[in-house]
Amino acid sequence: MEYTEIMARYGELSTKGKNRKDFIGRLNGNITKALRPFTAIRIHPKRDRMHIVLNGESAQDVMTALDRVFGIQTYSPVIRIEATDFEQVKAVALEMVNEAAPKAGMSFKINTRRSNHEYPLDTNDINLALGDFISDARPDLVVKMKQPDVKVRVEVRHDGFYLSYLTVQGALGLPVGTAGKAVLMLSGGIDSPVAAYLALKRGVAIEMVHFFSPPYTTENALKKAKELTAKVAAYAGPVTFIQVPFTEIQEEIKEKVPEGYLMTVQRRFMLRLTDKIRAQRDGLAIFNGESVGQVASQTLSSMAAINDVTTTPIIRPVATLDKNEIIDIARKIDTFDLSVQPFEDCCTIFAPPQPKTHPNLEKTRHYEQALDVDALEDKAMANLTISTIQVGDKFLGQNADAAEISQLL
Ligand code: ATP
Ligand code: MG
Repeated sequence: MEYTEIMARYGELSTKGKNRKDFIGRLNGNITKALRPFTAIRIHPKRDRMHIVLNGESAQDVMTALDRVFGIQTYSPVIRIEATDFEQVKAVALEMVNEAAPKAGMSFKINTRRSNHEYPLDTNDINLALGDFISDARPDLVVKMKQPDVKVRVEVRHDGFYLSYLTVQGALGLPVGTAGKAVLMLSGGIDSPVAAYLALKRGVAIEMVHFFSPPYTTENALKKAKELTAKVAAYAGPVTFIQVPFTEIQEEIKEKVPEGYLMTVQRRFMLRLTDKIRAQRDGLAIFNGESVGQVASQTLSSMAAINDVTTTPIIRPVATLDKNEIIDIARKIDTFDLSVQPFEDCCTIFAPPQPKTHPNLEKTRHYEQALDVDALEDKAMANLTISTIQVGDKFLGQNADAAEISQLL
């Protein structure tokens, strides 16, 4: 079928009253970015939906790109026909019914709406004319008003007839950016990229913060985090990636803190540094990939001892999900295969064999006093590396060099 436009419905954002204009503006911008490769399309944002006129671009490819834009509740591929050509309207309506109701005994319905009241036929006339035409061509079908197998929607507007029968669920959520900006602590694991996706889904624009510890962690571990960011960029647009040198801090902690508290103190440093970066970058919150009870650092007592260093909201989108549920999302967003590649993580390298699952807050604070926290953090903050990562950028294996070079330019 030669679709001429995709009609996208806003869903949740349409409930946002006076913010509606901002939401629609942002969604328009995000769709424009996501559809940039399709140079012929034109986007017309309206109050309650958006019309994406294809001008010959592939409906299928455009729909695939739209599936990653948050803020779209549902969308429908639509065919526009000149108002003068009612024969063509009949033919297309029949084609739609044939496609969606191939078997005898199936049911259909025509549902017409009319905003062009000058058109000589009213909605009833049109419903009847199309219904009769289809019944004649397909006597094996039945007309059914309630829950038919196929509902062909016909809209009569001033510039023509618009026909559709498919309604596809969109990415849901809110347009990225409408909920403000935050930083996300991205490791190379399974959970944090999923947390990133879920943050974006609620409209939060994120910047990635990644701690690395050369030479204990290799260049590949860093590249993996960048490549995960490139995957997440499919939902976000270009993403800022901030790498934080963590070697010296980890060495100091290892030397001065009792083994049972290594992990807790390390995490406190990571959180404090992330919070400083957040403040510098005008973020409002910190997101991470912690899941309650998953490992020693993610018991509630651990979280309490770590969270102690800041009052900034910390949002943990996967906090209450089971690992399998997180993995399902990781597969859906295509980060899983990358996440399970075995590159050493900065935290596991210095992980004690038996970290405290219930660290004591007073002791944690006490042990940390053996370190010159401010000096260590100032040094790390002075040595951040900030880059921008685009969807599809490759850092590992083949083609990696090109992306690396283009990043340096
Ligand atoms: P993930 O799968 O996201 O790595 P995990 O189950 O392996 O999570 P941890 O390694 O304990 O759990 O990390 C918990 C969270 O701490 C991560 O989800 C991430 O948000 C943050 N984190 C861990 N390591 C790093 C790192 N090297 N850089 C930035 N954030 C990190
Ligand atoms: Mg991890």
